[in-house]
Amino acid sequence: MALSKLDNLYRQVILDHSSHPHHLGQIDDGETVDLNNPTCGDVIKLTLRLEGDQIADIAFQGSGCSISTASASMMTDAVIHKSVAEALELAEVFSEMVQGKSDERQANLGDGALLSGVAKFPQRIKCSTLAWHALEKALADQSGSAALANLSGH
Ligand code: ZN
Repeated sequence: MALSKLDNLYRQVILDHSSHPHHLGQIDDGETVDLNNPTCGDVIKLTLRLEGDQIADIAFQGSGCSISTASASMMTDAVIHKSVAEALELAEVFSEMVQGKSDERQANLGDGALLSGVAKFPQRIKCSTLAWHALEKALADQSGSAALANLSGH
C-alpha cells in the first residue's frame, strides 16, 4: 500500500517536470545540440555554456512525450553548476540506472533518480536518455572546440 502511494508521488513529480519544465529556453552564446528519438518522436534542442570547467548555464527546448520532457528538466537541474567530469559521470549513472543497474551515486541525480522505474519499460529508455545523450554530445563538442582553440594557439 505504501508502495502505490510512493508510485503516485513519483508520477506526480514526473508530471510536474513535464508540464512545467525547468531551464526551458535557449542560451544565446551557448553550444547547441539537436537530437531526436525516432522511435517515439521526441525532439530536443539543448544549449549550454561552460565557464572554465563548469556548466555555467543550460537550457533546452523540445517536444515529445512526458518522460523525455521530464527527464530533460531533471537533467538540467542535476548538472547545472557541475563540472564537465561530474556531469559526464551523472550521464553514465543515469544510463545504467534506466537499464536496471543500481548505484548509490543515483542520489546525485536529484529528481532524475525517480525515473529508475523506466527500466521496467524498455521501449521508454530512449525517451529518458535523449536529454543525457544531448548533454554528452554538447560537452564533447565544447571540449573539441576548446582543444582546437588550444591547437591553433601553438
Ligand atoms: Zn518518448
